[in-house]
Amino acid sequence: MIETGEFDFENRVVAPQVIKEDDNDFDYSLRPKTLAEYIGQDKVKENMSIYIEAAKKRGEPLDHVLLYGPPGLGKTTLSNIIAHEMGVNIRVTSGPAIEKTGDLAALLTSLQAGDILFIDEIHRLSRAVEEILYPALEDFAIDFMIGNGPAARSIRLDLQRFTLVGATTRSGQLSAPLRDRFGIIQRLELYSPDDLAVIITRSATILGVAIDPDAAQEMAKRSRGTPRIANRFLKRVRDYADVMGNGRITKEIAKIALDRMEVDGLGLDSLDKRLLGMIIKGYGGGPVGLETLASAIGEEAVTLEDVCEPYLMQLGFLARTPRGRVATELAYEHLGLKKPGSAANDKQTTLF
Ligand code: ADP
Repeated sequence: MIETGEFDFENRVVAPQVIKEDDNDFDYSLRPKTLAEYIGQDKVKENMSIYIEAAKKRGEPLDHVLLYGPPGLGKTTLSNIIAHEMGVNIRVTSGPAIEKTGDLAALLTSLQAGDILFIDEIHRLSRAVEEILYPALEDFAIDFMIGNGPAARSIRLDLQRFTLVGATTRSGQLSAPLRDRFGIIQRLELYSPDDLAVIITRSATILGVAIDPDAAQEMAKRSRGTPRIANRFLKRVRDYADVMGNGRITKEIAKIALDRMEVDGLGLDSLDKRLLGMIIKGYGGGPVGLETLASAIGEEAVTLEDVCEPYLMQLGFLARTPRGRVATELAYEHLGLKKPGSAANDKQTTLF
């Protein structure tokens, strides 16, 4: 039988987003402050350092930047680094936090020349707010309507030249006019286990925790390509090392801790397994539409799409086809199941 029902997302240890147990101070202390400290994402780093240097040489603000990719990969961190490298201030807000056009106008008029305005989840801006943003991005001005009816007139207010850095997990949901106003668009990729091992070792050094290289590798392999998850694991495994050992994180302690968190050797948890299990046992391996799948396991389609699928696809366990989601042979293998019609089964049928 396949288990269905509400999953406790706020406490999901492999969630790429911020969850209840995450601690702001802990997170802040581990944030790289310069491009040199920012690990991995070599292409993005290389591009950004050229754009930053060129803007600084010309004495101009940086072009508007759009960063996109799954949660927890370092979009907020990178925005702060950009501000640091440019030597300017950063104001941080998010799409859902800007409710009214006046909220955005107040933010924009408070910016000084060269400042960075960071808008997280920029795809969630309302249409009315987005429309205020267009002239602000293009002409560094905002248009106000004063009065009502025939007496109404529009007044233009000039702004300082600023840089917008927008972050989104879903670039496809951004309207075309907004996307077109970004001169620099960078996609962040899931990190390799080697990069994550470096991130974990760096974080351990900052926290003053001793960690064996094979322990860092073990944790990296299970971190789903996501630094936020890697740091969360470190925080939990450190507790196990303090209680079960002498504070040093060994591979054995890391394994015990992660197994107890019910995160398997590749970082899958029960939700991932339910998703793959449903495709395989409920729909013969697929293809099955995302909506059908979501209602079959009792979760929201966007959640599956944002939090499970990117990593399952990176592992090669799941494929998106025009007809729906398909579980691959690797997924069957990982779950210890046989794929109907796979080489092993074909041999059997030819015997009879
Ligand atoms: P996002 O904005 O994409 O959700 P964040 O910037 O909040 O992600 O990153 C989550 C955490 O992961 C940060 O607190 C930071 O400590 C860590 N992190 C992200 N990217 C890197 C990196 N390239 N190198 C080291 N640590 C990183």
